Amino acid sequence: MVKVFIPKTLAEALSIRNLHKTLVINGGTDVMVKFRRWSGMPPDFPLDVLHIGNLAELKHIEIAEGNLMIGAAVTLSELLEHPLVPDYIKLPIRQLASPAIRNMGTLAGNLCNASASGDSLPMLYALDAEVTLASTTGMRKLPVGQFITFAKQTLLRRDELMTEIIIPLADYTVSYYRKIGGRKVNAISKASFYAVAIKREGIIEDVRIAFGSVAPTAVRDRSCEEILMGTAGTELAANIETLRTRYGELLAPLDDSRSTADYRRHVSLQLLEDFIGRGLVT
Ligand SMILES: Cc1cc2nc3c(=O)[nH]c(=O)nc-3n(C[C@H](O)[C@H](O)[C@H](O)COP(=O)(O)OP(=O)(O)OC[C@H]3O[C@@H](n4cnc5c(N)ncnc54)[C@H](O)[C@@H]3O)c2cc1C
Repeated sequence: MVKVFIPKTLAEALSIRNLHKTLVINGGTDVMVKFRRWSGMPPDFPLDVLHIGNLAELKHIEIAEGNLMIGAAVTLSELLEHPLVPDYIKLPIRQLASPAIRNMGTLAGNLCNASASGDSLPMLYALDAEVTLASTTGMRKLPVGQFITFAKQTLLRRDELMTEIIIPLADYTVSYYRKIGGRKVNAISKASFYAVAIKREGIIEDVRIAFGSVAPTAVRDRSCEEILMGTAGTELAANIETLRTRYGELLAPLDDSRSTADYRRHVSLQLLEDFIGRGLVT
């Protein structure tokens, strides 16, 4: 019989994590689907369950030293409603699942699930987000690009919990997100594209670009972004072919039940071109 732990404090949760092999449930929107059985039956959990979704210590949203700090149990709906969260962070969250799923699901869950099609990942990669992982022996911080090692694989240890997501803030003047799915809402991405930029007096001072669902993890490359930096909007078109080629070599899409590799590659490079041609030039 599976035990269910519902701790009242983070310290209690970490102690349980240390003493027992547990399956963490936060919002449960991935976990409940993964271990579902037929209608009317409880899920088939392989381990004792640790529910952390109600921990008050993981419910904060605040700004510290220019970073947005998001507690691991903050739901996606709470993020969307919060006045401290800038629109360029809300952009992909608005298109993630549906209101009902966002009322339960969390950014931490999306990260720990580490699906290649996780809709928050391109944004978190592009913005250089970090995660805090805690255990009874201490805390460590990792950039998201190190935390996620492959599709569905992370560096989370079996005694650790993700406690916080840290996103450096900046005065981006351009933000762009497109998600390609089988329908307008509640669709898992076939491909997605996220970008932000700082453009002042016509010059691109900074730009960050990340692709989703076209490789085991989100694809971002600083050397490609640097090609666009320092460029005037009117000169951008000259770089499109170089960037299509460079990114084309980095994307490694798969054929699966949702789409084909060819379609994913084609549409991703079209979105890159649209972002440069319309998002950055205008
Ligand atoms: C109908 C439906 C539609 C969906 N649509 C989308 C979509 O459009 N885009 C998308 O990206 N996703 C989608 N999802 C997937 C899911 O909703 C998201 O991945 C969500 O962000 C998961 O968050 P959660 O809190 O519910 O995670 P949970 O299910 O609670 O956990 C997910 C994984 O992370 C681990 N985990 C969670 N929090 C922690 C923590 N703090 N520390 C350590 N481990 C932790 C869990 O053990 C589990 O392995 C959809 C799901 C459903 C059911």
